[in-house]
Amino acid sequence: MSLTANSPLTDLGIENATVHLNPGVDELYAHAVRLGEGVKAATGPLTVHTDKTGRSPKDRFIVEDDQTRDAVWWEGFNRPISGEVFDRLLAKMTKHAEGRELFVQQVFAGTDKKHRIAVRMITEMAYHSLFVHNMFVRPTPEERADFEADWTVLNIPSFKADPAVDGVRSETFILVNFGKRMIIAGGTQYAGENKKGIFGVMNFLLPDQGVMPMHCSANVGENGDVALFFGLSGTGKTTLSADPARRLIGDDEHGWTESGVFNFEGGCYAKVIRLNPEAEPDIYRTTQTYGTVLENVVLREDGTPDLDDDSLTENTRSAYPITQIDNIQPGSIAGHPKNVVFLTADAFGVLPPISRLSPDQTMYQFISGFTAKIPGTEEGVTEPSPTFSTCFGAPFMPRHPGEYARLLAKKVEDSGATVWLVNTGWSGGMYGQGKRMSIAHTRALINAALSGELDSVTFEREPFFNLEIPTQVPGVPSEVLNPRDAWTDKAAYDETARKLARMFRENFKRFEAGVDASVTNSMPDPDVQG
Ligand code: ATP
Ligand code: MN
Repeated sequence: MSLTANSPLTDLGIENATVHLNPGVDELYAHAVRLGEGVKAATGPLTVHTDKTGRSPKDRFIVEDDQTRDAVWWEGFNRPISGEVFDRLLAKMTKHAEGRELFVQQVFAGTDKKHRIAVRMITEMAYHSLFVHNMFVRPTPEERADFEADWTVLNIPSFKADPAVDGVRSETFILVNFGKRMIIAGGTQYAGENKKGIFGVMNFLLPDQGVMPMHCSANVGENGDVALFFGLSGTGKTTLSADPARRLIGDDEHGWTESGVFNFEGGCYAKVIRLNPEAEPDIYRTTQTYGTVLENVVLREDGTPDLDDDSLTENTRSAYPITQIDNIQPGSIAGHPKNVVFLTADAFGVLPPISRLSPDQTMYQFISGFTAKIPGTEEGVTEPSPTFSTCFGAPFMPRHPGEYARLLAKKVEDSGATVWLVNTGWSGGMYGQGKRMSIAHTRALINAALSGELDSVTFEREPFFNLEIPTQVPGVPSEVLNPRDAWTDKAAYDETARKLARMFRENFKRFEAGVDASVTNSMPDPDVQG
């Protein structure tokens, strides 16, 4: 049903826009094509190219008010902005919106009725509306009949801020206002902002309800054992959670309640650059399916997607409803986790492919949130660059990391879950010398951990990070288990490991005051090793 007559947006001061209310997939394809936003690929997906090809975390601001002043951790990505700046930009935006076409989706964030929020997503782009339809939890017809939004998102990419007068950093802005329960965004076409904005809202609200909000994927085995996979972008949350032998709960954002875990989303947003159909058959299939949004993928002459083409960006994406994956958990809700996996893509090649964490190390690694990027194209840069992003998602976590870490530690303790650190990055040398772990080996390591097979094997302790490493894992050559064995130049390994350990310690200094000494000391000091 599409409503184009009277505008339901008068509460925002938008009096005469053409509003499409809850348009379906066919309609959105037609609108997107008509508006020149994209084309239908020969394999089915709606394919679009965007001005920005990634999020703009530095342009996100939170309105400072009575609710946020003392509750938000005003560091890193959490920058304050005044209510007046928000109001002025909103007024300009609504004026800009007059006479235009807008798409509205009424959706939920959260599959758990007790903790979900109802969101009215107003977008200028038809393809954003399809993205939202795919990625959020779609209400039943009954739920839609008496839908009342808790939050409103207004996203108008053609509206660009003027940093000289508008009080923001650039022409791109994402402003979150908890008092008004509203997000306004402009100056970027990247669809991921639609979902990550609301993720940040959930991450702020849920701890007060005793719920741990998490940047992680989740799946559940045949016998009901739930696994979580935390990790920064590119570490493998989406890839590794799509396992045909386990039911997918979700690939990116979850909450851990008093009774188990629930997905915030109704869809997945997978990286598709150089996707290998054999290694990732489920995700590959979504690139061949009607209803999918393919973002910044280049089409060949014949209209089929060329997944190897990185000319627009490395960050090519497929956004699809979770129902496109074969083996999914009904309702995207399940019990308490039995295993928690921290994924890291260590381009230094020194962290073990799998290790088991103590409770103190769990806090340490969670607060550190480490991964390492491969060297960029910049002249002279040959070393990987470390990224420490607290809670494995600093740009989305408005509260103090200690608050999330304590909540997670409590949930892990109460559930008795085992916590693992898995390196999906390099082995046998740093980026350039070694190789990336194969997806098959990483899957074998994770399967061994989740099935309980590692409960009965011997572990050894690695000296630089103080990690416990299994000495044998079925299906994986034992030389790769201890990272030092995989390097031919042992002195180079020791030097690189020591260097990374120092980076960990340097980064952790700013958190030391907020945690028990046992957490800080759960990692040895490589410089005082004899
Ligand atoms: P985001 O938060 O941006 O969604 P993500 O954690 O979901 O990131 P993925 O989309 O799963 O990350 O990206 C992992 C990428 O690394 C994929 O392109 C995958 O093909 C590749 N890859 C290579 N080797 C491995 C491995 N051993 N394990 C996991 N992924 C691997
Ligand atoms: Mn992902």
